[in-house]
Amino acid sequence: MEKGQAQERPVLIQKFGGTSVATAETRAQVTGHVRQALQQGYAPVVVVSAMGRAGAPYATDTLLSLVQDIARDTSPRSLDLLLSCGETISAVIMAETLRVAGIPAVPFTGAQAGIITDNQFGSARILRIQPERIWQALSQGIVPVVAGFQGVTESGEITTLGRGGSDTTAAALGVALRAVEVQIFTDVNGVMTADPRIEPDARTLRTISYREVMEMAQLGAKVIHPRAVEIAMEGRVPLRVLATGSRAPGTLIVDAREMAKRSGEPVTPVEIRSDRVVRAVTQMGEMARVVLTDVGGTTDPQTLEIFTSLAAGGISLDMIQVEPGRIAFAIDASRVGLARSILLGLGHRPAIESGFVKVSAVGGGMQGVPGVMARILRALADANVTVYHTSDSHVNISCLVRSGDMAMAVRALHREFLLDAEDDPPSPMAQTVRPTAALTRDDREKRNGYSQVPVRIEAAQAREQAGRVGTSSTREGSDEHATGVW
Ligand code: ASP
Ligand code: MG
Repeated sequence: MEKGQAQERPVLIQKFGGTSVATAETRAQVTGHVRQALQQGYAPVVVVSAMGRAGAPYATDTLLSLVQDIARDTSPRSLDLLLSCGETISAVIMAETLRVAGIPAVPFTGAQAGIITDNQFGSARILRIQPERIWQALSQGIVPVVAGFQGVTESGEITTLGRGGSDTTAAALGVALRAVEVQIFTDVNGVMTADPRIEPDARTLRTISYREVMEMAQLGAKVIHPRAVEIAMEGRVPLRVLATGSRAPGTLIVDAREMAKRSGEPVTPVEIRSDRVVRAVTQMGEMARVVLTDVGGTTDPQTLEIFTSLAAGGISLDMIQVEPGRIAFAIDASRVGLARSILLGLGHRPAIESGFVKVSAVGGGMQGVPGVMARILRALADANVTVYHTSDSHVNISCLVRSGDMAMAVRALHREFLLDAEDDPPSPMAQTVRPTAALTRDDREKRNGYSQVPVRIEAAQAREQAGRVGTSSTREGSDEHATGVW
Protein backbone atom coordinates (compact mmCIF):
# COMPACT_ATOMS: atom_id res chain seq x y z
CA MET A 1 0.00 0.00 0.00
CA GLU A 2 1.19 3.48 -0.84
CA LYS A 3 2.58 5.41 2.06
CA GLY A 4 0.21 8.16 3.13
CA GLN A 5 -2.86 6.25 2.18
CA ALA A 6 -3.47 3.81 4.98
CA GLN A 7 -2.64 6.09 7.89
CA GLU A 8 -5.37 8.52 6.89
CA ARG A 9 -8.07 6.29 8.25
CA PRO A 10 -9.23 6.78 11.85
CA VAL A 11 -9.77 3.53 13.72
CA LEU A 12 -13.34 2.56 14.60
CA ILE A 13 -14.05 -0.44 16.87
CA GLN A 14 -17.21 -2.35 15.96
CA LYS A 15 -18.17 -5.01 18.51
CA PHE A 16 -20.93 -7.46 17.69
CA GLY A 17 -22.68 -9.50 20.38
CA GLY A 18 -23.68 -13.14 20.27
CA THR A 19 -27.05 -12.64 18.62
CA SER A 20 -25.51 -10.35 15.98
CA VAL A 21 -23.22 -13.10 14.70
CA ALA A 22 -25.65 -15.99 15.29
CA THR A 23 -27.23 -16.42 11.84
CA ALA A 24 -26.36 -15.83 8.20
CA GLU A 25 -28.97 -13.08 8.18
CA THR A 26 -27.55 -11.16 11.14
CA ARG A 27 -24.00 -11.69 9.85
CA ALA A 28 -25.09 -10.03 6.62
CA GLN A 29 -26.17 -7.03 8.70
CA VAL A 30 -22.77 -7.04 10.39
CA THR A 31 -21.13 -7.04 6.97
CA GLY A 32 -23.26 -4.01 6.07
CA HIS A 33 -22.05 -2.08 9.10
CA VAL A 34 -18.41 -2.92 8.41
CA ARG A 35 -18.76 -1.98 4.76
CA GLN A 36 -20.36 1.32 5.70
CA ALA A 37 -17.51 2.12 8.09
CA LEU A 38 -15.01 1.46 5.31
CA GLN A 39 -16.96 3.61 2.87
CA GLN A 40 -17.02 6.41 5.42
CA GLY A 41 -13.25 6.37 5.58
CA TYR A 42 -12.70 4.52 8.84
CA ALA A 43 -10.43 1.60 9.54
CA PRO A 44 -12.82 -0.77 11.33
CA VAL A 45 -11.60 -3.33 13.86
CA VAL A 46 -14.28 -5.94 14.51
CA VAL A 47 -14.67 -7.67 17.89
CA VAL A 48 -17.05 -10.60 18.24
CA SER A 49 -18.75 -12.62 20.98
CA ALA A 50 -19.54 -16.32 20.80
CA MET A 51 -22.38 -17.10 18.42
CA GLY A 52 -25.90 -17.23 19.85
CA ARG A 53 -27.33 -17.73 23.30
CA ALA A 54 -27.47 -20.80 25.56
CA GLY A 55 -28.46 -23.82 23.48
CA ALA A 56 -26.76 -22.62 20.32
CA PRO A 57 -23.90 -25.05 19.60
CA TYR A 58 -20.98 -22.70 20.25
CA ALA A 59 -22.52 -20.32 22.78
CA THR A 60 -20.55 -19.84 25.99
CA ASP A 61 -23.22 -21.51 28.14
CA THR A 62 -23.36 -24.51 25.80
CA LEU A 63 -19.59 -24.99 26.00
CA LEU A 64 -19.81 -24.69 29.76
CA SER A 65 -22.51 -27.38 29.96
CA LEU A 66 -20.40 -29.72 27.80
CA VAL A 67 -17.79 -29.98 30.50
CA GLN A 68 -20.21 -29.75 33.40
CA ASP A 69 -21.87 -32.90 32.12
CA ILE A 70 -18.60 -34.69 32.76
CA ALA A 71 -17.11 -33.01 35.81
CA ARG A 72 -17.90 -30.41 38.42
CA ASP A 73 -14.32 -29.72 39.38
CA THR A 74 -12.76 -28.75 36.09
CA SER A 75 -9.79 -26.45 36.65
CA PRO A 76 -10.30 -22.76 35.89
CA ARG A 77 -7.46 -23.03 33.37
CA SER A 78 -9.23 -25.79 31.43
CA LEU A 79 -12.56 -23.95 31.64
CA ASP A 80 -11.03 -20.84 30.10
CA LEU A 81 -9.41 -22.83 27.35
CA LEU A 82 -12.82 -24.32 26.54
CA LEU A 83 -14.85 -21.11 26.79
CA SER A 84 -12.40 -19.16 24.65
CA CYS A 85 -13.28 -21.49 21.73
CA GLY A 86 -16.70 -19.85 21.34
CA GLU A 87 -15.24 -16.47 20.42
CA THR A 88 -12.44 -18.03 18.36
CA ILE A 89 -14.98 -19.86 16.20
CA SER A 90 -17.03 -16.70 15.89
CA ALA A 91 -14.00 -14.64 14.77
CA VAL A 92 -13.17 -17.13 12.00
CA ILE A 93 -16.77 -17.35 10.80
CA MET A 94 -17.21 -13.57 10.79
CA ALA A 95 -13.89 -12.98 9.04
CA GLU A 96 -14.83 -15.52 6.37
CA THR A 97 -18.25 -13.93 5.98
CA LEU A 98 -16.58 -10.56 5.37
CA ARG A 99 -14.00 -12.05 3.03
CA VAL A 100 -16.52 -13.74 0.75
CA ALA A 101 -18.47 -10.47 0.71
CA GLY A 102 -15.38 -8.84 -0.79
CA ILE A 103 -13.97 -7.25 2.39
CA PRO A 104 -10.45 -8.47 3.17
CA ALA A 105 -10.56 -9.72 6.77
CA VAL A 106 -8.37 -11.86 9.02
CA PRO A 107 -9.41 -13.45 12.34
CA PHE A 108 -7.30 -13.09 15.49
CA THR A 109 -7.56 -14.79 18.85
CA GLY A 110 -7.11 -12.51 21.85
CA ALA A 111 -3.54 -13.77 22.16
CA GLN A 112 -2.79 -13.07 18.51
CA ALA A 113 -4.25 -9.59 18.93
CA GLY A 114 -1.76 -9.01 21.75
CA ILE A 115 -4.22 -8.87 24.64
CA ILE A 116 -2.10 -9.66 27.69
CA THR A 117 -3.91 -10.41 30.94
CA ASP A 118 -3.14 -11.42 34.51
CA ASN A 119 -3.62 -15.09 35.40
CA GLN A 120 -6.98 -14.78 37.13
CA PHE A 121 -8.72 -17.47 35.10
CA GLY A 122 -12.42 -16.78 34.60
CA SER A 123 -12.15 -13.07 35.36
CA ALA A 124 -8.77 -12.00 34.05
CA ARG A 125 -7.85 -8.33 33.81
CA ILE A 126 -6.19 -6.92 30.74
CA LEU A 127 -2.73 -5.69 31.72
CA ARG A 128 -1.73 -4.27 28.36
CA ILE A 129 -2.24 -4.65 24.65
CA GLN A 130 0.52 -5.19 22.11
CA PRO A 131 -1.39 -4.42 18.95
CA GLU A 132 1.39 -4.75 16.37
CA ARG A 133 -0.37 -7.44 14.38
CA ILE A 134 -3.60 -5.45 14.37
CA TRP A 135 -1.78 -2.36 13.10
CA GLN A 136 -0.07 -4.48 10.52
CA ALA A 137 -3.37 -5.85 9.23
CA LEU A 138 -4.90 -2.38 9.15
CA SER A 139 -1.96 -0.95 7.26
CA GLN A 140 -2.56 -3.60 4.60
CA GLY A 141 -6.20 -2.60 4.30
CA ILE A 142 -7.36 -5.76 6.10
CA VAL A 143 -10.18 -5.73 8.66
CA PRO A 144 -8.99 -7.54 11.80
CA VAL A 145 -11.73 -9.64 13.43
CA VAL A 146 -10.74 -10.14 17.05
CA ALA A 147 -12.19 -12.81 19.33
CA GLY A 148 -13.63 -10.98 22.32
CA PHE A 149 -13.66 -12.12 25.95
CA GLN A 150 -10.19 -13.70 25.89
CA GLY A 151 -6.55 -12.95 26.35
CA VAL A 152 -3.26 -14.60 27.19
CA THR A 153 -0.98 -14.44 30.21
CA GLU A 154 2.71 -13.59 30.01
CA SER A 155 3.41 -17.30 30.23
CA GLY A 156 1.06 -18.20 27.38
CA GLU A 157 -2.03 -19.42 29.26
CA ILE A 158 -5.37 -18.61 27.63
CA THR A 159 -7.67 -16.60 29.92
CA THR A 160 -11.21 -15.21 29.76
CA LEU A 161 -12.31 -11.81 31.01
CA GLY A 162 -15.55 -12.71 32.85
CA ARG A 163 -19.05 -13.04 31.47
CA GLY A 164 -19.94 -10.29 29.05
CA GLY A 165 -16.22 -9.65 28.59
CA SER A 166 -16.30 -9.03 24.83
CA ASP A 167 -17.39 -5.47 25.57
CA THR A 168 -14.24 -5.15 27.66
CA THR A 169 -12.09 -6.37 24.77
CA ALA A 170 -13.69 -3.78 22.50
CA ALA A 171 -13.19 -0.90 24.93
CA ALA A 172 -9.59 -1.87 25.69
CA LEU A 173 -8.75 -2.16 21.99
CA GLY A 174 -10.44 1.20 21.48
CA VAL A 175 -8.09 2.79 23.99
CA ALA A 176 -5.00 0.95 22.76
CA LEU A 177 -5.69 1.82 19.11
CA ARG A 178 -6.93 5.32 20.00
CA ALA A 179 -10.17 4.71 18.19
CA VAL A 180 -12.54 7.57 17.39
CA GLU A 181 -15.38 5.53 18.82
CA VAL A 182 -16.17 2.08 20.18
CA GLN A 183 -19.47 0.86 18.80
CA ILE A 184 -21.23 -1.89 20.73
CA PHE A 185 -23.77 -3.50 18.41
CA THR A 186 -26.49 -5.49 20.11
CA ASP A 187 -30.12 -6.53 19.77
CA VAL A 188 -31.57 -3.41 21.40
CA ASN A 189 -31.55 0.12 20.01
CA GLY A 190 -29.27 1.55 22.65
CA VAL A 191 -29.41 2.44 26.32
CA MET A 192 -33.05 2.71 27.31
CA THR A 193 -34.81 4.64 30.05
CA ALA A 194 -36.11 1.32 31.44
CA ASP A 195 -36.39 -2.34 30.49
CA PRO A 196 -38.98 -2.24 27.66
CA ARG A 197 -40.36 -5.62 28.71
CA ILE A 198 -41.45 -3.98 31.95
CA GLU A 199 -42.15 -0.43 30.81
CA PRO A 200 -43.57 -0.30 27.26
CA ASP A 201 -43.05 3.48 27.15
CA ALA A 202 -39.30 3.11 27.67
CA ARG A 203 -37.29 5.19 25.23
CA THR A 204 -33.80 5.00 23.78
CA LEU A 205 -31.56 7.70 25.22
CA ARG A 206 -29.57 9.67 22.68
CA THR A 207 -26.76 10.50 25.04
CA ILE A 208 -25.76 9.44 28.50
CA SER A 209 -22.66 9.94 30.59
CA TYR A 210 -20.17 7.20 31.39
CA ARG A 211 -20.94 7.59 35.06
CA GLU A 212 -24.67 7.15 34.60
CA VAL A 213 -24.42 4.14 32.32
CA MET A 214 -21.86 2.48 34.57
CA GLU A 215 -24.25 2.92 37.49
CA MET A 216 -27.11 1.54 35.37
CA ALA A 217 -25.06 -1.51 34.42
CA GLN A 218 -24.14 -2.13 38.03
CA LEU A 219 -27.78 -1.74 39.05
CA GLY A 220 -29.10 -4.35 36.65
CA ALA A 221 -29.26 -2.89 33.12
CA LYS A 222 -27.69 -5.56 30.89
CA VAL A 223 -26.86 -3.31 27.98
CA ILE A 224 -23.09 -3.01 28.42
CA HIS A 225 -20.44 -4.41 30.72
CA PRO A 226 -19.56 -1.86 33.43
CA ARG A 227 -15.86 -2.68 33.10
CA ALA A 228 -15.97 -1.69 29.43
CA VAL A 229 -17.48 1.66 30.39
CA GLU A 230 -14.80 2.19 33.01
CA ILE A 231 -12.02 1.48 30.52
CA ALA A 232 -13.53 3.76 27.88
CA MET A 233 -14.05 6.51 30.46
CA GLU A 234 -10.46 6.32 31.67
CA GLY A 235 -9.18 6.21 28.11
CA ARG A 236 -11.59 8.96 27.02
CA VAL A 237 -12.90 6.97 24.09
CA PRO A 238 -16.55 7.58 23.20
CA LEU A 239 -18.79 4.52 23.29
CA ARG A 240 -21.95 3.99 21.32
CA VAL A 241 -24.57 1.29 21.86
CA LEU A 242 -26.63 0.54 18.77
CA ALA A 243 -28.72 -2.17 17.14
CA THR A 244 -27.24 -4.49 14.54
CA GLY A 245 -30.56 -4.65 12.75
CA SER A 246 -30.99 -0.91 12.36
CA ARG A 247 -29.34 2.22 10.99
CA ALA A 248 -30.39 4.32 13.98
CA PRO A 249 -27.57 6.16 15.77
CA GLY A 250 -28.25 4.47 19.13
CA THR A 251 -26.95 5.94 22.38
CA LEU A 252 -23.71 7.87 22.61
CA ILE A 253 -21.86 7.47 25.91
CA VAL A 254 -19.42 10.25 26.72
CA ASP A 255 -18.46 12.55 29.51
CA ALA A 256 -20.99 15.38 29.51
CA ARG A 257 -18.44 18.05 30.28
CA GLU A 258 -16.07 16.65 27.71
CA MET A 259 -18.85 16.70 25.16
CA ALA A 260 -19.59 20.34 25.86
CA LYS A 261 -15.92 21.24 25.74
CA ARG A 262 -15.23 19.47 22.49
CA SER A 263 -18.24 20.86 20.71
CA GLY A 264 -17.12 24.42 21.35
CA GLU A 265 -20.80 25.24 21.51
CA PRO A 266 -22.86 26.21 24.53
CA VAL A 267 -24.16 22.83 25.57
CA THR A 268 -25.96 22.07 28.79
CA PRO A 269 -24.32 18.91 29.98
CA VAL A 270 -27.03 16.28 30.23
CA GLU A 271 -25.95 15.49 33.76
CA ILE A 272 -26.82 18.81 35.26
CA ARG A 273 -30.21 19.52 33.77
CA SER A 274 -32.25 20.25 36.85
CA ASP A 275 -35.51 19.26 35.21
CA ARG A 276 -34.20 15.80 34.54
CA VAL A 277 -32.59 14.55 37.71
CA VAL A 278 -33.41 10.95 36.85
CA ARG A 279 -32.59 9.54 33.43
CA ALA A 280 -33.33 5.84 33.74
CA VAL A 281 -34.90 3.22 36.01
CA THR A 282 -33.32 -0.19 36.49
CA GLN A 283 -34.15 -3.33 38.43
CA MET A 284 -32.02 -6.12 39.83
CA GLY A 285 -33.00 -9.31 41.59
CA GLU A 286 -33.74 -11.63 43.15
CA MET A 287 -32.39 -10.43 46.41
CA ALA A 288 -32.83 -11.29 50.05
CA ARG A 289 -32.96 -8.93 52.97
CA VAL A 290 -31.01 -9.65 56.14
CA VAL A 291 -31.68 -7.84 59.41
CA LEU A 292 -29.82 -8.37 62.67
CA THR A 293 -31.05 -6.70 65.83
CA ASP A 294 -29.15 -8.82 68.36
CA VAL A 295 -25.93 -6.91 67.85
CA GLY A 296 -23.94 -4.44 69.92
CA GLY A 297 -22.38 -1.14 68.99
CA THR A 298 -20.47 -0.53 65.80
CA THR A 299 -17.11 -0.69 67.62
CA ASP A 300 -18.00 -4.02 69.19
CA PRO A 301 -15.58 -6.79 68.01
CA GLN A 302 -18.57 -9.12 67.55
CA THR A 303 -20.15 -6.64 65.15
CA LEU A 304 -16.97 -6.51 63.12
CA GLU A 305 -16.80 -10.32 63.14
CA ILE A 306 -20.13 -10.48 61.32
CA PHE A 307 -18.66 -8.64 58.36
CA THR A 308 -15.34 -10.46 58.28
CA SER A 309 -17.09 -13.86 58.44
CA LEU A 310 -19.51 -13.02 55.64
CA ALA A 311 -16.57 -11.76 53.58
CA ALA A 312 -14.64 -14.96 54.25
CA GLY A 313 -17.67 -16.85 52.93
CA GLY A 314 -17.44 -14.85 49.72
CA ILE A 315 -20.78 -13.14 50.26
CA SER A 316 -21.09 -9.72 48.75
CA LEU A 317 -23.29 -7.29 50.67
CA ASP A 318 -25.42 -4.56 49.18
CA MET A 319 -27.48 -1.66 50.55
CA ILE A 320 -25.63 -1.93 53.86
CA GLN A 321 -26.95 -0.10 56.90
CA VAL A 322 -24.99 -0.23 60.12
CA GLU A 323 -26.09 1.51 63.29
CA PRO A 324 -25.69 0.76 67.00
CA GLY A 325 -27.84 -2.29 67.76
CA ARG A 326 -28.94 -2.94 64.17
CA ILE A 327 -27.39 -4.19 60.95
CA ALA A 328 -29.34 -4.58 57.73
CA PHE A 329 -28.24 -5.41 54.20
CA ALA A 330 -29.29 -7.15 51.02
CA ILE A 331 -27.63 -10.16 49.39
CA ASP A 332 -28.16 -12.15 46.23
CA ALA A 333 -31.00 -14.63 46.87
CA SER A 334 -28.71 -17.53 45.94
CA ARG A 335 -26.51 -16.77 48.98
CA VAL A 336 -29.25 -17.07 51.62
CA GLY A 337 -28.34 -20.59 52.81
CA LEU A 338 -24.68 -19.76 53.28
CA ALA A 339 -25.38 -16.40 54.96
CA ARG A 340 -27.80 -18.03 57.37
CA SER A 341 -25.35 -20.72 58.41
CA ILE A 342 -22.53 -18.22 58.90
CA LEU A 343 -24.68 -15.91 61.04
CA LEU A 344 -26.16 -18.77 63.09
CA GLY A 345 -22.61 -20.07 63.55
CA LEU A 346 -21.72 -16.74 65.14
CA GLY A 347 -24.64 -17.13 67.56
CA HIS A 348 -26.98 -14.61 65.94
CA ARG A 349 -30.63 -14.98 65.05
CA PRO A 350 -30.93 -13.10 61.79
CA ALA A 351 -34.21 -12.28 60.07
CA ILE A 352 -33.65 -13.31 56.47
CA GLU A 353 -36.32 -12.92 53.84
CA SER A 354 -36.14 -13.60 50.11
CA GLY A 355 -38.35 -12.33 47.30
CA PHE A 356 -37.05 -8.79 46.86
CA VAL A 357 -35.90 -6.75 43.89
CA LYS A 358 -33.80 -3.60 43.91
CA VAL A 359 -35.38 -0.86 41.81
CA SER A 360 -33.14 2.14 41.14
CA ALA A 361 -33.59 5.63 39.77
CA VAL A 362 -30.34 6.69 38.09
CA GLY A 363 -29.29 10.18 37.08
CA GLY A 364 -26.15 12.29 37.35
CA GLY A 365 -28.27 15.37 37.90
CA MET A 366 -29.69 14.36 41.29
CA GLN A 367 -26.63 15.34 43.29
CA GLY A 368 -27.49 18.18 45.64
CA VAL A 369 -31.04 18.49 44.33
CA PRO A 370 -33.53 18.43 47.19
CA GLY A 371 -36.74 16.46 46.91
CA VAL A 372 -35.72 13.51 44.75
CA MET A 373 -36.36 11.02 47.55
CA ALA A 374 -39.65 12.72 48.33
CA ARG A 375 -40.78 12.24 44.73
CA ILE A 376 -39.66 8.62 44.66
CA LEU A 377 -41.45 7.68 47.88
CA ARG A 378 -44.57 9.56 46.86
CA ALA A 379 -44.69 7.89 43.45
CA LEU A 380 -44.21 4.45 44.99
CA ALA A 381 -46.80 5.15 47.69
CA ASP A 382 -49.31 6.23 45.06
CA ALA A 383 -48.65 2.91 43.29
CA ASN A 384 -49.16 1.11 46.60
CA VAL A 385 -45.60 -0.18 46.65
CA THR A 386 -43.94 -0.64 50.05
CA VAL A 387 -40.24 0.18 50.31
CA TYR A 388 -38.28 -2.09 52.67
CA HIS A 389 -34.85 -0.62 52.42
CA THR A 390 -33.10 2.16 50.51
CA SER A 391 -29.59 3.16 49.53
CA ASP A 392 -28.21 6.00 47.50
CA SER A 393 -25.16 7.49 45.86
CA HIS A 394 -24.65 10.77 44.02
CA VAL A 395 -25.99 9.09 40.91
CA ASN A 396 -28.80 6.84 42.15
CA ILE A 397 -31.47 6.13 44.71
CA SER A 398 -32.32 2.45 45.10
CA CYS A 399 -35.35 0.89 46.79
CA LEU A 400 -35.79 -2.72 47.82
CA VAL A 401 -39.35 -3.77 47.00
CA ARG A 402 -41.22 -7.08 46.88
CA SER A 403 -40.62 -8.97 43.62
CA GLY A 404 -44.33 -8.87 42.89
CA ASP A 405 -44.26 -5.05 43.06
CA MET A 406 -41.24 -4.66 40.79
CA ALA A 407 -43.07 -3.83 37.55
CA MET A 408 -45.37 -1.38 39.33
CA ALA A 409 -42.40 0.31 40.94
CA VAL A 410 -40.44 0.64 37.69
CA ARG A 411 -43.43 2.11 35.88
CA ALA A 412 -44.27 4.48 38.73
CA LEU A 413 -40.76 5.93 38.74
CA HIS A 414 -40.58 6.08 34.96
CA ARG A 415 -43.80 8.10 34.96
CA GLU A 416 -42.85 10.29 37.88
CA PHE A 417 -39.65 11.43 36.19
CA LEU A 418 -41.30 11.81 32.75
CA LEU A 419 -38.83 9.43 31.16
CA ASP A 420 -41.09 8.65 28.21
CA ALA A 421 -40.64 12.24 27.03
CA GLU A 422 -37.68 13.28 24.90
CA ASP A 423 -35.24 15.11 27.15
CA ASP A 424 -31.85 14.94 25.57
CA PRO A 425 -31.34 17.12 22.56
CA PRO A 426 -29.34 15.38 19.86
CA SER A 427 -25.80 15.72 21.07
CA PRO A 428 -23.37 17.82 19.07
CA MET A 429 -21.53 14.60 18.39
CA ALA A 430 -24.65 12.97 17.07
CA GLN A 431 -25.64 15.95 14.96
CA THR A 432 -22.43 17.00 13.41
CA VAL A 433 -20.51 14.89 11.02
CA ARG A 434 -17.84 17.31 9.95
CA PRO A 435 -15.41 16.60 7.20
CA THR A 436 -11.95 15.88 8.36
CA ALA A 437 -8.57 16.17 6.82
CA ALA A 438 -8.30 12.47 7.41
CA LEU A 439 -10.70 11.86 4.57
CA THR A 440 -10.08 12.61 0.95
CA ARG A 441 -12.45 14.95 -0.85
CA ASP A 442 -13.75 11.97 -2.71
CA ASP A 443 -14.56 10.27 0.56
CA ARG A 444 -16.20 13.41 1.86
CA GLU A 445 -18.49 13.58 -1.09
CA LYS A 446 -19.32 9.94 -0.84
CA ARG A 447 -20.04 10.24 2.82
CA ASN A 448 -23.09 12.39 2.38
CA GLY A 449 -25.03 9.23 1.78
CA TYR A 450 -23.76 7.63 4.96
CA SER A 451 -24.33 10.18 7.65
CA GLN A 452 -26.27 7.73 9.79
CA VAL A 453 -23.19 6.68 11.72
CA PRO A 454 -22.44 9.90 13.48
CA VAL A 455 -18.87 9.68 14.56
CA ARG A 456 -17.30 12.94 15.53
CA ILE A 457 -14.07 12.88 13.73
CA GLU A 458 -12.63 16.10 15.13
CA ALA A 459 -12.13 14.30 18.41
CA ALA A 460 -9.75 12.00 16.66
CA GLN A 461 -7.83 14.87 15.19
CA ALA A 462 -7.21 16.20 18.64
CA ARG A 463 -5.46 12.95 19.41
CA GLU A 464 -2.02 12.04 18.34
CA GLN A 465 -1.18 10.95 14.86
CA ALA A 466 -0.46 7.69 16.58
CA GLY A 467 -4.16 7.05 16.46
CA ARG A 468 -4.05 6.74 12.71
CA VAL A 469 -3.53 3.50 10.99
CA GLY A 470 0.05 3.59 9.97
CA THR A 471 2.10 1.97 7.29
CA SER A 472 5.18 0.35 8.70
CA SER A 473 7.24 3.40 7.79
CA THR A 474 5.11 5.80 9.81
CA ARG A 475 5.01 3.47 12.77
CA GLU A 476 8.69 2.70 12.86
CA GLY A 477 10.40 3.49 16.09
CA SER A 478 7.17 4.23 17.90
CA ASP A 479 6.52 1.96 20.79
CA GLU A 480 2.86 1.37 20.46
CA HIS A 481 2.34 -0.80 23.51
CA ALA A 482 -0.59 0.61 25.33
CA THR A 483 -0.07 0.06 29.00
CA GLY A 484 -2.09 0.44 32.14
CA VAL A 485 -3.91 -2.10 34.24
CA TRP A 486 -7.41 -2.65 32.99
N1 ASP B 1 -19.43 -15.02 25.29
C1 ASP B 1 -19.12 -14.44 26.56
C2 ASP B 1 -20.32 -14.52 27.48
O1 ASP B 1 -21.35 -15.08 27.11
C3 ASP B 1 -18.61 -13.05 26.44
C4 ASP B 1 -19.56 -12.06 25.81
O2 ASP B 1 -20.55 -12.44 25.20
O3 ASP B 1 -19.31 -10.86 25.92
O4 ASP B 1 -20.26 -14.08 28.57
MG1 MG C 1 -22.77 -8.80 26.12
